[in-house]
Amino acid sequence: MAISYKSFSRDLINWYDGSKRDLPWRRTRDPYKIWVSEIMLQQTTVNTVIGFYGRFIKAFPTMKALAKAPLQTVLKQWQGLGYYNRARNLHRSAVRLMQEHRGVLPRDPEVLRAFPGFGPYTTGSVLSIAYDIPLTIIDANIRRVGMRLLALPGEANTKQDPVIKEFLLKILPLKRAGDFNQALMELGARVCASKYPSCTACPVAGYCRANRLDLQKKIPISKKKIVTDIQAVLAIIKKNDRYFIQQRPEKGLLAGLWEFPGGKIESGESESKALARELKEELGLQLRSARFLFRLKHFYTQFRVELSVFACSIKGEPTIDAAHLWVSYKDLSKYPMPSANGKIIERLTA
Ligand code: SF4
Repeated sequence: MAISYKSFSRDLINWYDGSKRDLPWRRTRDPYKIWVSEIMLQQTTVNTVIGFYGRFIKAFPTMKALAKAPLQTVLKQWQGLGYYNRARNLHRSAVRLMQEHRGVLPRDPEVLRAFPGFGPYTTGSVLSIAYDIPLTIIDANIRRVGMRLLALPGEANTKQDPVIKEFLLKILPLKRAGDFNQALMELGARVCASKYPSCTACPVAGYCRANRLDLQKKIPISKKKIVTDIQAVLAIIKKNDRYFIQQRPEKGLLAGLWEFPGGKIESGESESKALARELKEELGLQLRSARFLFRLKHFYTQFRVELSVFACSIKGEPTIDAAHLWVSYKDLSKYPMPSANGKIIERLTA
């Protein structure tokens, strides 16, 4: 059956109008707030984002407020959401948009694409939702829905996108493009779910090739997730009532966040040897003694970390500068830290 593009979009948007979730960022037309929500929703679930979004908007209610805030304050608000580059780019773009566009998000996709964090997806989602500009978007949910609607074989990856985009360009309505894009995302999240698509409740089941061919559970082919296990040691060094923390480099994983010193245990290495080596390499310090405190597991997308935490005493003093500080327990919470370090601080009180 050939798809009637007009009726497809109408059926999808009608369904969305009647059953969309009432989410905080759907109650606003403010492009800045829509932008913040779209950045937060990348790689993070809606339920997690709800709380963070409310707090972030309260702290930075306007683009001007965000641009004026120090990066460390922004990262602190972001703490727990992960993928901190999103926050860094959000802040960088806010500063530049204030300077170059008086705090107004440009409507031209080409212009917006020049700002940090505005790839094709973010540009399309923000402009279509905020200004109703007819741009297509493809995220993981839309890719899966598109593959099923067209019964495309293979794994869900960006190689599928040109065909899906061609299809989306045919069904994208000129009006309500933002609602159309959100409807597709909503469909992928709530109906055309990855493992168990609810085809009987699907507003576009009649247009779906995979449904017709009974292939919906076989499309896309599922990819085995490779998760690496990492074992690491972490040193709690105390002087009087203050703890030693250091800032991670400005580039790379968890860039610019603060943490207790430590690192990965190399193969064949004992925990105490790893501690001594890390303190030597990172800080030029010699470990005097280490007392085991507790072990903690933390999960990232691609790896699991088992952290062994030790109370350490060292010979000499670490050098104190802008990226190496002694901080009281009360003040530790003022520094943006990876979630695993946040968990450790909670355990330290116990
Ligand atoms: Fe997904 Fe089923 Fe709807 Fe097809 S009919 S789009 S497989 S939920």
